[in-house]
Amino acid sequence: MKVKDPVCMMDVDTETATITSEYEGQTYYFCAPGCKREFDRNPAKYIHGDDTLGSHPAEAGGGGGNP
Ligand SMILES: [Zn+2]
Repeated sequence: MKVKDPVCMMDVDTETATITSEYEGQTYYFCAPGCKREFDRNPAKYIHGDDTLGSHPAEAGGGGGNP
């Protein structure tokens, strides 16, 4: 079965892939160790497309209490 490497979006064959990582009960496949390392550093970014982790100060919410 072919799946996508979530980091670089390359097709990876699950039958031959040796580089995998488990996150939230799901197995992800990678084309290279560097992709796995990148994924392990910030899985949510690649799974949910959430790129806001730590990159922006909280600007949503509005309930900060600052005058
Ligand atoms: Zn890759």
